[in-house]
Amino acid sequence: MHLMDTYRRLPVRFTKGEGVYLYDDKGKRYLDMVAGVAVNALGYGDPELTKALCEQAKNLIHISNLFENPWQEELARELVKNFWTSGRVFFCNSGTEANEGAIKLVRKYFHERGERRYRIITFYNSFHGRTFGSMSATAQEKIQKGFEPLLEGFDYVELNNFQSLLKAIKKDTGAIMLEVIQGEGGIREATEEFLHKVQELCQREGLLLVIDEVQTGIGRTGKFYAYEHYKIRPDIITLAKGLGGGFPIGALLAREEVAKAFNPGSHGSTFGGNPLACSSAMVVVKKVKGLLDHVERVGNYFKERLKALNIGEVRGRGLMLGLDIGRDCSQIVLKALERGLIINCTAQSVLRFVPPLIIEEKHVDEALEILKEILLD
Ligand SMILES: *Cc1c(COP(=O)(O)O)cnc(C)c1O
Repeated sequence: MHLMDTYRRLPVRFTKGEGVYLYDDKGKRYLDMVAGVAVNALGYGDPELTKALCEQAKNLIHISNLFENPWQEELARELVKNFWTSGRVFFCNSGTEANEGAIKLVRKYFHERGERRYRIITFYNSFHGRTFGSMSATAQEKIQKGFEPLLEGFDYVELNNFQSLLKAIKKDTGAIMLEVIQGEGGIREATEEFLHKVQELCQREGLLLVIDEVQTGIGRTGKFYAYEHYKIRPDIITLAKGLGGGFPIGALLAREEVAKAFNPGSHGSTFGGNPLACSSAMVVVKKVKGLLDHVERVGNYFKERLKALNIGEVRGRGLMLGLDIGRDCSQIVLKALERGLIINCTAQSVLRFVPPLIIEEKHVDEALEILKEILLD
């Protein structure tokens, strides 16, 4: 009883992981369709990730950002190589920090141009994190309640409603920030048509487009970055969750001209991008690039099998899928756990599946057998 009561924890203690399975303290095996909430991209015990971590830990875990850091440079080069244009990266430790960085960069970018455009438009059911800037960007009452006053400068609109977006734009609006697939908000997808209009609007009005790829990025949806599905060109993207394959690391990537608004002293982090974090992420990034077709194929198979259950709307892309059963799903999570299947319930009624990217069709079949028993009985 020495922990703050911030989580509703499920009654299970995991002691070991292997591939796409976790084992509890009694030796019982569980198929993991949550992967630390879209974090353990390579599953458990990946030999290359483990090796990189151990070797780097022996040599050098941490150095300050007071010094040169070739691990960051190598990882940044890899992240930018997959971006639509040249850009620069800042490393931090989590998703919320990446978004804080993005919010600061938006303000600084306009400040450098002598414009007072600091407002950011975000969307209902979004999730950007728990620190003050990111929480203020998160247009969900349940996240913000009790913490007012929030950071000023956010305007909220409905996803996929372009007219209300237009109405929300003010003369001091600087950016639009969104998840192309809202994760915590219930696997809700922005439409391609909406995203194209947003892109046009940003170009016309000189607004920055910030895509929160903390959950969707690093191969989760079958593209390296999820925005690539829609052929949009974001000015800033944020990354975390899957990036370190379980080791904490976050990143902020901005196109060159925007990134230049940060100069020495603008922003910083003690731990951000330390050698151990970057070495882990480097393995993940390289391996994920070879997994994209696999993610798309297994994701499509998974999606079709969920649809065939015929019990609710199936949403999402790649290995970021949701099944909206239209009623509270927390009991289903418990029943699944009893039967050795780890799933998650988000936005009350949406079963969320964000497994390790290495799962195969046979694991999908195994999960579906258990789900069918529970959902159709
Ligand atoms: C999880 C998440 C965050 C917050 O990441 P933390 O590492 O928990 O701070 C931000 N944005 C999105 C889209 C997320 O899914």
